[in-house]
Formats: sequence, C-alpha cells, structure tokens
Amino acid sequence: MLKLKDIHKSYLSGGHPLEVLGGISTSVEAGESLAIVGPSGSGKTTLLGICAGLDTPSSGSVHLMEEPLSELSEDHRARIRNQHVGFVFQNFQLIPTLTALENVCIPLELKGQRNVHKKAMSWLERVGLAQRSDHYPVQLSGGEQQRVAIARASVSEPAVLFADEPTGNLDEETSGQIEELLFSTHRETGNTLILVTHDTELAAHMDRVLRLRNGMVEMAQA
Ligand code: ATP
Repeated sequence: MLKLKDIHKSYLSGGHPLEVLGGISTSVEAGESLAIVGPSGSGKTTLLGICAGLDTPSSGSVHLMEEPLSELSEDHRARIRNQHVGFVFQNFQLIPTLTALENVCIPLELKGQRNVHKKAMSWLERVGLAQRSDHYPVQLSGGEQQRVAIARASVSEPAVLFADEPTGNLDEETSGQIEELLFSTHRETGNTLILVTHDTELAAHMDRVLRLRNGMVEMAQA
C-alpha cells in the first residue's frame, strides 16, 4: 500500500542544501501498523509528511495505493489525500471557528457525501464526545480535541491513518486513552496505521518499528 524508494530530502539552510533524509527505502502492507521513531531532528516528521503526500521528496519515489505520489501535482496529491488518507497532528489542528461536529464533517464534505452530520455524529459518539458536538475547540481539553481530531481523520474511512506524535501534548492518562482509541480504530476498520512517536510503549504495540538516525534507517524491526 505504501512503497518508498531511495527517498532523499534536502532543505536550503543559509543558502546551502541541508540533507534531512539520506536515502530511505521501505514498504508497508495494507492493514499493517508502523511506528517511526528516532531522536529529535532525525527526520521523522519530514518522512511522515512525504509518505502522506503533504510534502515531496527531493529525489526518490513514493507510491501510495499504487499512485506515484512523488510525481503528481499538488492538486492531484490533495485529491488522493482526501480519498485515502487521514492525518492526526500533535497539536490537533482543529479549525477554531468550527464546532467539533463541523470539524468532523469536513472530510465527508470534501468527498461530496450526503448525510454528513449523521455519520460525523456517529464518530463523535464512538470517541465519547457526542454531548460535546456543538462545542468549539477552545472549549475542549487537549485530550478531547485529539479525540475529535481522530474522529475527523477516521470519519471518511481512509485506507491509511497517519499520526505525528499524537500523544505528544497530552498527560500520561490521556495519552493512554488516545493510544487505545487509535488501536481500536485500527483493529475495527482494518486501516493501515503509520505514526511518529517518542513513546516506546506505544511503538512496542505496533507491528513494525522503523528507527531513524540522521535521516537514515538505523533499524527496521518486525
Ligand atoms: P522532532 O522529534 O524534534 O519532531 P523529527 O525527527 O520529526 O524531529 P524533522 O521535523 O523531520 O525531525 O526535521 C528534521 C530536520 O529537518 C531538522 O534538522 C529540521 O530543523 C529540518 N527541517 C524540517 N523542516 C524544515 C524546513 N521547512 N526548512 C528547513 N529545515 C527543515
């Protein structure tokens, strides 16, 4: 479902190219769960963004659901993201001017679906926040915002859910609830789950761990 071949990524830093990813190749099967781990600055977020089609590599190829993501225009990549990808961010990234329910409706509206409120509401129920549907993000705790974000990322039943340090801004107890929610969604929907984490306990629950160091794969373990 995801194939990366010799991915390099450089940024310009002070007029000089800074190589952040130095040749990453791996593949992920449908329904698998993968944790990307490694020290701060090792390139985890950059790699996740490239896998999800939010960013493009400097060289190398990315295929997601057989689509050659790295060769497509931004518009085309956005269409593929809307169709197949859910993304959960460390800082939730809910739209502050929309209620919890309206946030969850967005992916369904982008897909042109009908009865969006009913389906979005069923996901808010699933994450235990039905009674908060008309609350704005500022009226919700961090853990509640992340539950809304998971509902939003999952409501359109994407084939693959990406999460960038989904528990990074949460306390231990809330992190446990969010992890359980991600895993139950993964089990129940059969989605592919790819996440970046510093949390070794969370990584240990995944099918596979990809460890980065200085933009290279240090260890890939089953
Ligand atoms: P952390 O665990 O701290 O979030 P990370 O492993 O996710 O780190 P990245 O965020 O992928 O690492 O960043 C890798 C390197 O690329 C860092 O040195 C960062 O400063 C650099 N970098 C990331 N984005 C950009 C950018 N847009 N322009 C220039 N440099 C960047």
